[in-house]
Amino acid sequence: MPTFVIQEKCDGCKGQDKTACMYICPNDLMYLDKDRMKAMNQEPEQCWECYSCVKICPQQAIEARPYADFVPLGGTSIPMRSSDSIMWTIKFRDGKLKRFKFPTRTVPEGSIKIYKGEPEPTDADMDSPNFFTELGQKLPTIS
Ligand code: SF4
Ligand code: SF4
Repeated sequence: MPTFVIQEKCDGCKGQDKTACMYICPNDLMYLDKDRMKAMNQEPEQCWECYSCVKICPQQAIEARPYADFVPLGGTSIPMRSSDSIMWTIKFRDGKLKRFKFPTRTVPEGSIKIYKGEPEPTDADMDSPNFFTELGQKLPTIS
């Protein structure tokens, strides 16, 4: 089932230019009604239930029906992220609650420097068909 926004919980990401759910949706489905400052999934039939918006929403305002193999119909699963872990609160339809916490990183946030030791790119590199990691290499040619 596609995601839906719990209107009472959504604060429109406090009026920023682009809300968190709009930023993260790979299918551009989230829409902010600026008059009401409430977001919505504008094309639910296009949602592929990737859960990205559910996980990023700072208000836990987005829900998707969980997959039946871990939460039977009528239950909910709400994530809460921190800088190094994610905790899922699963509410079963009989009201029972269970929480599962998983680490999401093995190193401190911001500590990975992916360009460290790599040369600065030049304007000429823009014309190169090579990938960043292949700059300076000669591509094989078809003869
Ligand atoms: S990320 Fe959450 S709080 Fe922000 S606009 Fe979307 S639904 Fe509302
Ligand atoms: S679950 Fe994924 S595809 Fe569906 S609205 Fe959220 S971010 Fe977009």
